[in-house]
Amino acid sequence: MVRELQALAEKLLAAWPPLIPGFHTIALDDQVTLTLALGDIGQMLASVQGTFDAFYLDGFAPDRNPEMWSEDTLKKIADLAAPGARLSSWCVAGAVRRSLAEAGFNVSKRAGFGGKRDRLFACWPENTAMPSSHEAVKSTVLVIGAGIAGASIARQLAVRGLSVTVIEQQRPAAGGSGNPVAVVRPEPGGDENPIAAFSAAGVIWLAQWLALHGQQVPHAFCGALRITRDQRRHEKLRQHAQTMPKDWLAEIDVVQASALCGQQLSADAFLLPKAAWVVPAELVKRMLDHPLITLKTGLQAERLSQIETGWQLQLSDGTQIDSARVVLADAFGQLSPVSLAVDKARGQLSSLAVREGFEVRMIVCRDGYITPAVDGMHTIGATIQYDDEDASARASDDEENLQRLERLLPRFVDSSKQLHSGRVSWRSTTQDRLPLVGKIAEGLYASVGHGSRGIACAPLCAEFLASLMLNEPLPLGGEWVSKLNPLRFE
Ligand SMILES: Cc1cc2nc3c(=O)[nH]c(=O)nc-3n(C[C@H](O)[C@H](O)[C@H](O)COP(=O)(O)OP(=O)(O)OC[C@H]3O[C@@H](n4cnc5c(N)ncnc54)[C@H](O)[C@@H]3O)c2cc1C
Repeated sequence: MVRELQALAEKLLAAWPPLIPGFHTIALDDQVTLTLALGDIGQMLASVQGTFDAFYLDGFAPDRNPEMWSEDTLKKIADLAAPGARLSSWCVAGAVRRSLAEAGFNVSKRAGFGGKRDRLFACWPENTAMPSSHEAVKSTVLVIGAGIAGASIARQLAVRGLSVTVIEQQRPAAGGSGNPVAVVRPEPGGDENPIAAFSAAGVIWLAQWLALHGQQVPHAFCGALRITRDQRRHEKLRQHAQTMPKDWLAEIDVVQASALCGQQLSADAFLLPKAAWVVPAELVKRMLDHPLITLKTGLQAERLSQIETGWQLQLSDGTQIDSARVVLADAFGQLSPVSLAVDKARGQLSSLAVREGFEVRMIVCRDGYITPAVDGMHTIGATIQYDDEDASARASDDEENLQRLERLLPRFVDSSKQLHSGRVSWRSTTQDRLPLVGKIAEGLYASVGHGSRGIACAPLCAEFLASLMLNEPLPLGGEWVSKLNPLRFE
């Protein structure tokens, strides 16, 4: 390998995701993001959304894998070309040149290099009338709410050079994002399960982000052991695990699982090596730490009205702010002019002081979870109660959490008296358990309804929403625009 490329290649290899199908977005730094689409070329290209300035066609030779060079593939590439886009390839086959020309490219053969006599060069026509999407959106963006959703969208807009003002009624991570520890893990499941694909992409994105920016954020990729609820689900997951790389999902028996964990598990399990725990309030703090982000705390956003230049936000101190772009990240979308279909689910955590001889090395989960000790405490979660506004911690919830724990690690504790009542907060949930992320109206966007996975998935949603707002290629397949559409239940 060329010596100058060694360091870059190593960085890329370190960030390379597990080989699971679908879209994977790797942020190599704040300027360079790589989106990998792993799968069949036809399906993947059909999902790509965005416009592109340059293409390099590097599929094996047309006679060895014709799908990569088919007329349909090349037409789809033409659909994704920005005005003036350039395309190149080592392949100068006549059929490829003809298909590209038919699709609308200006195609030529140029002198090759590195042992190749010729190379292909093609250009998509210029269209000087096209406005630049970035030019149009340079004004300050207003974000309401400084939980993980608000902090991460503020960050992804700021790294694109936009100024962002975040309005928070209390302090950062005052809501669900302020729990002492959160589990970041993919939900394993087959292709038919959208949560599986979504959570996988979310976990991979957050892992990249933490690797780049999270040195001061307490976290550990300790892995998780997932126990299924019943034999039928276990069998289904076993079949799925057989199609997955072992560094992503592997079935292990109870003896192996207990040895890995350090404690006796209740049943056979599935190992999720890429799972992590993180301290969410520290993650939020780190995300907000950017020179283009202005945070205003202790200010409640009270009313939002549409004005000629965009939106006007009325604040609790009697002042108002006008902005062309507003993002609702207050968990429930309360100021949305169209009511958003979210429910409110109370959750209480319990904690358990670390004891000598009772080490837990991995997250263990089923319908609840226990984390390794962080700052001397295990976190055990979590209850779920709808229509419950009680903010005080309850002993009956600790009893429920103890039962969850016993389904994971039987005999780990004797009585709920050993548990300490943990934090109470509320999840914003949706019917299909996917969040509401996208456009509500011209200049008004939402990232709410993150349910039980906001810490794991809201950061990827922020990258998705920032790309959507600025008309950039999306880090997920285009079908996610409707799957996450905030108005999809209307
Ligand atoms: C018990 C429990 C355990 C959980 N465990 C996990 C886990 O292990 N892993 C995981 O990934 N997820 C977990 N979650 C889910 C996760 O915590 C949430 O999905 C996530 O915190 C939601 O983030 P958010 O930014 O959307 O909302 P929040 O964190 O609630 O932030 C919303 C912010 O908006 C502010 N705000 C609201 N209204 C206004 C207004 N009008 N003006 C100004 N500011 C306003 C609030 O003060 C708050 O700070 C858990 C949730 C609960 C309840």
